[in-house]
Amino acid sequence: MTFAVHGLPVARGIAIGRAVLMASSRVDVAHYFIQPEQVESEIQRVRTSRNAVVEEIHRLQHTISQMGPKEVPQELTALLDVHLMLLQDEDLISGVKHWVIDRLYNAEWALTTQLEILSRQFDDMEDEYLRGRKADLEQVAERILRHMQGVASPIVQTGAPRRKPQQDLLLDDSMDVPLVMIAHDLSPADMLHFKQSVFAGFVTDVGGRNSHTAIVARSMDIPAVVGARGASNLVRQDDWIIIDGDAGVMIVDPSPIILAEYGFKQRQGELDRGRLSRLRHTPAITLDGHKIELLANIEMPDDAPAALIAGAVGVGLFRSEFLFMGRRGHLPDEEEQYQAYRRAVDGMEGLPVTIRTIDVGADKPLDDTVRDIAHLNPALGLRAIRWSLADPAMFLTQLRAILRAAAHGQVNMLIPMLAHASEIRQTLSLIDFARAELDNRGIAYGPIKLGAMIEIPAAALTLKIFLKYFDFLSIGTNDLIQYTLAIDRSDESVAHLYDPLHPAVLHLVARTIDECNAQGKGVSVCGEMAGDVSLTRLLLGLGLRSFSMHPAQILAVKQEVLRADSSRLAAWARQVVESDDPASLMPGA
Ligand code: PEP
Ligand code: MG
Repeated sequence: MTFAVHGLPVARGIAIGRAVLMASSRVDVAHYFIQPEQVESEIQRVRTSRNAVVEEIHRLQHTISQMGPKEVPQELTALLDVHLMLLQDEDLISGVKHWVIDRLYNAEWALTTQLEILSRQFDDMEDEYLRGRKADLEQVAERILRHMQGVASPIVQTGAPRRKPQQDLLLDDSMDVPLVMIAHDLSPADMLHFKQSVFAGFVTDVGGRNSHTAIVARSMDIPAVVGARGASNLVRQDDWIIIDGDAGVMIVDPSPIILAEYGFKQRQGELDRGRLSRLRHTPAITLDGHKIELLANIEMPDDAPAALIAGAVGVGLFRSEFLFMGRRGHLPDEEEQYQAYRRAVDGMEGLPVTIRTIDVGADKPLDDTVRDIAHLNPALGLRAIRWSLADPAMFLTQLRAILRAAAHGQVNMLIPMLAHASEIRQTLSLIDFARAELDNRGIAYGPIKLGAMIEIPAAALTLKIFLKYFDFLSIGTNDLIQYTLAIDRSDESVAHLYDPLHPAVLHLVARTIDECNAQGKGVSVCGEMAGDVSLTRLLLGLGLRSFSMHPAQILAVKQEVLRADSSRLAAWARQVVESDDPASLMPGA
């Protein structure tokens, strides 16, 4: 039966494919397709690991049998029996075999998929004791997975060719079967794994439009919907799904008519993109002759080629924290960071690269396992520059690495979430200290331009202080909106109040642009507002000349720039800022 689940649109476009349900904790296993000739060895990997775990348990049982009854809690003996029973249950292995043989999933992916199916069967059990055995099943699967990590797959292939469907085909025979991921939640670090995987779209139960998870999804330029409450419970493994990333809707089990309609929309979107790509080499100049800088936001050095392909004239925001995530406490040292920053600089082939110092905390935990549950309001807590200043050794390591990368090209350093003059002064003296350390060690480094992010209202209201110390400012509208309106950007329950057009937000943005322009200092917007084509004209009218966004948005924004006359937009833009109801003055209102 066809039904729809509504959420929040994150990344545009239509994806049509089969659902892969994912427990969030299991996103970090590898997902790739194997070759048909690898089927046997993949199944063997699961069997070998399963047998090894069975062996382990047998050994443990033997050790226990040698101990006295007082030394061994009775629950442990019973627990081991349950684990053995689950391990030897043929449903587990036969399910895994199905995913490997019929879908060519790699062994880990097949195991976690089967785990998800069995977990749901446990959830549906009426008997409380049996329901509780789900935790045992997860432990058993976890142990098999750990074993498999030591038994590598013969060939690891990410992004391998997709297969043609074998089952009840609703789609045209000639079409490949893309897969879409449905999860309760995905952290920004999960999304990084996702970036190299095979999925053509994703839907989550929770999350806001401007959560960091959503931002990474947008950078991948695949259709995505977040905040689709209940999605992961309503969908079954392998259901046909349509994701409409423009409308923020997921359609489950679509009828042939609906499929045909969305297939048409999908092809239309591809044609539109094809047309836009012709603008790649066109300079971004408004009708009245203003040259507009369109920069890219990136998460990893390997994103640089995509930025160049999209026609970016530099990187306006390299979110360096993604180098630090999912490392289970082993942060990258100076050399590793230096190499990563250098790769981004080299990758941009002489164009400027703005590296933001680490911004972890709130919805960007270093590790999924250490989500900040200790603090009531993590977004107001030890995040970004506050985190860096609280750990000077870590911060100095990063500062040295960035300064060293600056010897290889034009590097700007951007400091996130500053609010206090004392934070600015501490940051500046640590940068001086990092330079002195490199001098003492005789290591080369280059000149940098130093910028501050304006993302806390306090900063936007004390621009004089910022302009005294910094070469340029970059407006982080994602956080500026969050902190001005007191709306958690990752909470879908208040997403309707997260409003870039709130007069207070517009005032802060407008005054930051005005002050910088008046003093001849560079100013850009690097939050999501910069990549939103419905806001391009407004920002141009307010005097903004530098926009930094996901590479996927650059050409669409360029199209708006080419059609805009900024001098004619100025008076209207001021009216919008002064209005009680700015949205009513926007085109199409
Ligand atoms: C912002 O806050 O607008 C920004 C660009 O930084 P981030 O989204 O990484 O917090
Ligand atoms: Mg921010």
